[in-house]
Amino acid sequence: MNADLHCHSTESDGLLSPREVVARAAANGVELISLTDHDVTSGLDDARAEAGERGLRFVDGVEISVTWHGATVHIVGLRIDPQSAPLREGLESIRRGRATRAQKIAEGLSAAGIPGSLEGAQRYADNPELLSRAHFARFLVEAGRAADVKNVFQRYLVKDRPGWVQHRWASLQEAVGWIRAAGGIAVVAHPGRYKCERRELREFFAEFRDCGGAAIEIVTGAHTPEQYHEFAKSAREFGFLASRGSDYHGKGESRADLGMLPPLPDDLRPVWHDW
Ligand code: AMP
Ligand code: MN
Ligand code: MN
Ligand code: MN
Repeated sequence: MNADLHCHSTESDGLLSPREVVARAAANGVELISLTDHDVTSGLDDARAEAGERGLRFVDGVEISVTWHGATVHIVGLRIDPQSAPLREGLESIRRGRATRAQKIAEGLSAAGIPGSLEGAQRYADNPELLSRAHFARFLVEAGRAADVKNVFQRYLVKDRPGWVQHRWASLQEAVGWIRAAGGIAVVAHPGRYKCERRELREFFAEFRDCGGAAIEIVTGAHTPEQYHEFAKSAREFGFLASRGSDYHGKGESRADLGMLPPLPDDLRPVWHDW
């Protein structure tokens, strides 16, 4: 089964519309897809419709921003009911925080001699409720501040850089709770991306499992092949289901294209095993 259960559209920080994402996935041979925009479910109706027209299986998804021990982690919710009131209200509360954060990012950049970044970022954001650092990055590249989005992050948008703002997202318990209230399965997104020690990551996995989390991403565009092995071990140890997703954002901004990553290790139980 060619499943891709993590990707983004213009409803958050992707470059393709929800329908275009699904069309591209279909062309790449994806058989099961979920659209998992950051903190928003507004692209799901279009994506689901496109998947229906093209004969792909589709599940509703979302990627929730979480603060755990002061760091940002992402929890993907799969097979959620986007109409669920606790989920909707929870996501709305995170999105409200994004507006004030964007203002602070712009102030930091302005103090570093880069004016107009709020308006600049907004021009790249199709969804005004979902202003992301990715939109600031695109503006900064356009303004000639760095060669590409990756470089711009390192220079301006991460800790100890002018456009960095400490921000409080949902708690781990809230995010998993909203996903479960919406009938979904909670999945740790790209665990290899979090810059914490092995011991702390184990503590995180244990806490995630204790509050009802069920799966982790193993094969993702954010992992190296060595990390596939490393996190396959974690899945076995903690009894997690395994997920696979490109985290595709668009051409030039993603390591992996839709549906092009290797399959999951044979012995792991895929998160879609009983769908
Ligand atoms: P935000 O949720 O506004 O903090 O934005 C986070 C998004 O920025 C991620 O989902 C990625 O799409 C993008 N991003 C974060 N770090 C990097 C990086 N180092 N290089 C490129 N894109 C990044
Ligand atoms: Mn993103
Ligand atoms: Mn993520
Ligand atoms: Mn993502």
